[in-house]
Amino acid sequence: MATAHSEDIGGPAQPLLSVTNLRKYFGGTKGLFDRTAADPVRAVDGISFQIAKGDTLGVVGESGCGKSTMARLVIRLIEPDEGDVVLDGQKIGSSSGISVREMRSQVQMVFQDSYASLNPRLPIEDSVAFGPIADGVSKSVADERAIEILDKVGLDPKIFLRRYPHELSGGQRQRVNIARALALEPRLLILDEAVSALDKSVEAQVLNLLSDLKTQYGLTYLFISHDLNVVRYISDHVMVMYLGQIVEIGPVTTVYEDPKHPYTQALLQSQPTMDPHNRTTEAPISGDPPNPIRPPSGCRFHTRCPIAQPICSQVQPLLTKTADGQRQAACHLTASAQTDSNTNTTA
Ligand code: SF4
Repeated sequence: MATAHSEDIGGPAQPLLSVTNLRKYFGGTKGLFDRTAADPVRAVDGISFQIAKGDTLGVVGESGCGKSTMARLVIRLIEPDEGDVVLDGQKIGSSSGISVREMRSQVQMVFQDSYASLNPRLPIEDSVAFGPIADGVSKSVADERAIEILDKVGLDPKIFLRRYPHELSGGQRQRVNIARALALEPRLLILDEAVSALDKSVEAQVLNLLSDLKTQYGLTYLFISHDLNVVRYISDHVMVMYLGQIVEIGPVTTVYEDPKHPYTQALLQSQPTMDPHNRTTEAPISGDPPNPIRPPSGCRFHTRCPIAQPICSQVQPLLTKTADGQRQAACHLTASAQTDSNTNTTA
């Protein structure tokens, strides 16, 4: 299967995805004299990043940091309040760019809940062929494509074609969901906790499958997970989010081996270790994240940061290249003097 959208509009140097100042606040009411006026939840608060063609950008952060909302904003399952999303140089939802519908033929998403994502009354062949048919592909071509892709994701069509979702295991259902996404021949696949519900051995199989498919189809991934090991395994770059903002972004090896932001350091230290000499008795990160309705002033991490200084509660740190020039971090104490226009690239 060659992807229908494999044409490289802007050349390899042009990022496949560019996100600029993306913002989404939920709820909240305004009123000068209204005593019931409430502040909104600042779910995603002005984030900018890019993903290079063929790259995998992993996104990590505690539950509620905004990573899933960010993904839904990118694919327009949620309408952003502000910000631009540009796919291979074409702005989404603008008259000079591409429509949301055109974007969705190039960007697909796989969710965590493999069962809820499938129609229980459709055999998996029909589930996989459904998207292409809705996209205008003839039934015979869509059925052929379904057979081919099910084979590619490791489900023997002779056995699985007419089975229903309830007859499959969790890992098999997630393979069907990946097949459904691939049937639309996307360029960018957004995977939101897509392997989190699977047993460890099945998870490893699906991760290997994703790596193979990426090479085979020239895909680009936005991979969201709470599991730092999984993100390290599959990603080229990693973006760390805290309370709706990016605190560190860079090559995955650089960030994991030498994290610069205190939150990234705490997150990595909180991973369980099998090494008895390397165990810590102190909690690397204390307390719960603050309320996103009223995030702390200045650096949002200052209420939990072990090295916070007076400036931290007063001035918000910008994402800035660190002294090693290899990644960006939003911390007064680790950033170099040079601010990099707050745009972060995985290239
Ligand atoms: Fe900690 Fe201050 Fe850096 Fe924020 S800016 S992470 S509070 S040192």
